[in-house]
Parts: sequence; C-alpha cells; structure tokens
Amino acid sequence: MSSEEPPGSAGTRGLPLPFALDFYPLQAPEFTRIHPFFDNLRKGKLTTTNCTRCGAVHWQPRVVCPKCNSDSLEWIDLPKEGELFAFTEVRAGAPIGFEKDVPFVTALVRLKGTEILLTARIDGAKYEELKIGDRVRLKVIDLPDGRVWFRFTPASGTG
Ligand SMILES: [Zn+2]
Repeated sequence: MSSEEPPGSAGTRGLPLPFALDFYPLQAPEFTRIHPFFDNLRKGKLTTTNCTRCGAVHWQPRVVCPKCNSDSLEWIDLPKEGELFAFTEVRAGAPIGFEKDVPFVTALVRLKGTEILLTARIDGAKYEELKIGDRVRLKVIDLPDGRVWFRFTPASGTG
C-alpha cells in the first residue's frame, strides 16, 4: 500500500477507509478462505464450519479445527434466532465510520439451541427497551461497497 495515499482514499484495494481502520473483513476468495461465510450471508444464511473429524462446531468459521487440527471441515447452517446474553450501548468513541450511528446497541447473542455466543449490533430497539433474554433475529446488512455483514433485530411474537 502506497504511503502517498491520503487517509480515507480509495487505496489500492478500492476500500473507502485505510485498510487497518476498516472494521469489516475482506470477503472475496483472494483475501480469505472463509469466503463461503460471506456468500452464504449474502443469501440470508448464517453459517459456520463443522469439523468432520471430531465434530466440533466452530464460531467464528475456521479453516483448521482448533480442537483437533483437522482441515476436513464442512459448512453448516446456524439458527437465525437467538437471545440477548448481554448488551450495552455505544454512546461515544465509536469506530471510524460509525460516528453518525451513535447511540447504538451492541450485544452478545446466544444462538438458539446452541452454546454459540456472537457479537453483533442490535437494530430496531433502544437500549432502554431491551432486557437480557430478549429474542432477536438475524438481519443481513448490505455494505455500500458490495460486502455484507450481519446484525440482529428484536424478534416479535411469542415462542
Ligand atoms: Zn476437529
């Protein structure tokens, strides 16, 4: 990367932020071996890797199993629903690019029927309206540069 590029320039990777300050991972096959995660997310599916040798289900997706070192992994679907395990509100000091979003809620979500805890922003509710255990649903976010990411929103109804 050229040192002559001013901060915030498009840069050689075509990203709107300097690479080191870009919150979102690079998602194309030339950048990451877990690119199927992003392809699946783009289709509305939350997925991860499962080790076909020892059966471990990973979060986040891996290319090698951290339990048995096997690289014999398969992609599996994860639930799109979960519940709030913990949450907080970001009121200041948001990452670059998120300054205009404050205040926003970020949470640990336990995926339904699993032990998987993942971090995600919660859209569609104020901090004061939420409580531990609230049900939430996956929400896929399309980023302006064609990448994709996920958040959660409160799930309505009973269950
Ligand atoms: Zn394994």
